[in-house]
Amino acid sequence: MEISRSEFIKLGILTAAGISGLPGMNLRAQGSSGPQKTVIVLGGGISGLYAAYLLGKTGIKVKLIEATDRLGGRIRTVADSSGNFLDLGAEWIQAEHRTAKSLVRELGLKTTDFEVQSDLFFGSYQKAGTWEISSKSQEILNKLVQMNSKINSVQQQELDRISFYNFSIYQGMTPDDLAILNFKYSLYYGDSLRSLSAQKVLSDLINFPKYNTRIEGGMEALAKALVFSLENTETIFADPVVSVFQGEGKVSVTTGSGKKIEGSACISTIPANQLTSIQWDPELDKEKKLSALRIRYSRIYKTFLMLREAPWTRENFSAYSDSAAGFLYDAGTKSNSEDKVLGMISTGDRYDVMATSTDALKVEYIRLALERLSQKKDLQVLRIQSSESSHSKYVPSGIATFPPGSYGSIISLLKPMDRIFFAGEHTAELNGTVEGALASAIRAVNQV
Ligand SMILES: Cc1cc2nc3c(=O)[nH]c(=O)nc-3n(C[C@H](O)[C@H](O)[C@H](O)COP(=O)(O)OP(=O)(O)OC[C@H]3O[C@@H](n4cnc5c(N)ncnc54)[C@H](O)[C@@H]3O)c2cc1C
Repeated sequence: MEISRSEFIKLGILTAAGISGLPGMNLRAQGSSGPQKTVIVLGGGISGLYAAYLLGKTGIKVKLIEATDRLGGRIRTVADSSGNFLDLGAEWIQAEHRTAKSLVRELGLKTTDFEVQSDLFFGSYQKAGTWEISSKSQEILNKLVQMNSKINSVQQQELDRISFYNFSIYQGMTPDDLAILNFKYSLYYGDSLRSLSAQKVLSDLINFPKYNTRIEGGMEALAKALVFSLENTETIFADPVVSVFQGEGKVSVTTGSGKKIEGSACISTIPANQLTSIQWDPELDKEKKLSALRIRYSRIYKTFLMLREAPWTRENFSAYSDSAAGFLYDAGTKSNSEDKVLGMISTGDRYDVMATSTDALKVEYIRLALERLSQKKDLQVLRIQSSESSHSKYVPSGIATFPPGSYGSIISLLKPMDRIFFAGEHTAELNGTVEGALASAIRAVNQV
């Protein structure tokens, strides 16, 4: 049965059964009688999918190998029966994310922008717009960001040895102001500012994502639209890469089931924490290996409550709280939906609290947080949907973060090894974002 693009984006699933029969899958290279170049792409997250899409369009044959039984990686959207889309992974892009925005346009997807203004409960309840860090701390922070952009690489390396938290306190910022910054930034990093390199955070702050655009149909609509548009691509599912050999002008990849796939080049989008469990021949160079081991994957846990009534008292509600529930927000994506959707994001150590709690306990944590945030606490919960706590070891539950001592890791991780090129969010300047994952795919494809 033929399925149209819009039907696929709406209904299709990103598994082997879901994508079989799509126009571009399992095709032999078109438009040329000569032997075609084959490029092997490792990992079927958004970075691997975009790399396959770009390569396939130029007539190159692509073999895409994915460890799990679905494509999309850290992008996963669940359609709720109310017509709302729940993003269990990436949810927002920023208006200034140029690569993502232009791809969304190219693929004919629609977006909705919204304003983010959050309340805060930190000791006491503070309404959106009434809280910020002190002007003295803001001034210090601005100076540090400027200073970091001007110092040379030796000085940057020294700064990288210190945590952002300790350095900021040393520079005169107050613990309370840092706690407020931590609410904001740990939502993005999935980790505390205490554990991140001062140099990395200060470079990120120059262009910090604000996350104010959603794709209609959820972020998975982007992955699905890419899958639907793939050309010349053969996908191997549920079969992790276990070894990668290169020699005599070719790359040979072996999977867990014993399949051997050969190509003239390879793009690896495999997250850094999995790189060292693959056998590479020749071996990964020392710097790359050390960088992969230095990276810390953060933890981001999401829960959505479908409610009979909205508990919030204002439009576009969102709030940071110092409770286990972390960040709460109006996560509804359907404007006239009868059911309301409350989203919760818990990061860092709070991930464990939520991931090990029963649904009833999660609701209780959320109820307590709402009470502190002066919102209605009586919740009539219709359904609940959470991140899978039994996440596959292949798909990180957060993003690549850089602790003190990580200087130069991104540069080492993206450095090609002869015919093997590296991509994925952990190799991107805007790491930890869909934008970064897409931009890294463009870079790797241009190198092939
Ligand atoms: C909960 C959460 C919320 C987020 N929110 C946002 C957001 O709002 N906005 C935003 O821009 N970004 C967000 N991010 C970050 C964003 O999701 C990632 O930056 C992006 O999706 C990473 O894409 P990737 O292709 O680099 O990696 P992945 O999506 O991790 O893809 C890598 C793929 O490689 C596969 N793989 C691993 N090992 C092997 C192996 N041995 N063999 C074969 N395949 C293998 C994995 O199964 C996976 O499919 C969020 C991330 C999380 C976890």
